Amino acid sequence: MTEKKLKKADYDLIFDYISSLFTNMDTELKRETPFQLLVAVMLSAQSTDKQVNKITDQLFLSIKWPDDVLKMGQEKLEKAISSVNYYRMKAKHIYHTAEILDGKVIPEDEVELMRLPWVGEKTAKVIQYVLYHQPVIAVDTHVHRVANRLGIVQTKTPLETSKQIEKAVPESWKMVAHHALILFGRYYCKAVKPKCEGCGLREICRYKKIYRL
Ligand code: SF4
Repeated sequence: MTEKKLKKADYDLIFDYISSLFTNMDTELKRETPFQLLVAVMLSAQSTDKQVNKITDQLFLSIKWPDDVLKMGQEKLEKAISSVNYYRMKAKHIYHTAEILDGKVIPEDEVELMRLPWVGEKTAKVIQYVLYHQPVIAVDTHVHRVANRLGIVQTKTPLETSKQIEKAVPESWKMVAHHALILFGRYYCKAVKPKCEGCGLREICRYKKIYRL
């Protein structure tokens, strides 16, 4: 089913409405330094922000910069993050990243970021967006789901969404879109039992039309 494209007014409605639901639209990953942000994002692959924050609450007392990881060593790092998925692989890649970045600044460029171990397109875009305030939209399952329900894109996979969403969202909302769609997907437009009752986006929502809510 191909539907008409959203207009600027639809985007204004979407992002004004979502902005009104949250007092602070930021990543929920706790961090103080740029390197801590990168470590937290690396840890968050296949894990929730809550699980990552539980680990980093302790870990970031001793790790602020790459040389802190080098001092700690890979084995100790493994133990410190052992409650998260794929902790052995993550420890290996975080250690290797610390070796590469020791004494350097985290790159701003997507291609350079993706040369770092364990950094794919999504992680690179989160770093560009959160750390360097670049108007890019990292796509996770929340962004993919919500963008499709609202008709921002009509795609089958997050990869397809990632290719289309930045062309679809107007420039004026690009710096809001990533956090807005993630938070809205996490707390309101959930995968199972979205909170459609009282949702301010019912008029344009495709999900509502498909399921005749
Ligand atoms: S009406 Fe339901 S499915 Fe549609 S945007 Fe709102 S919460 Fe999501």
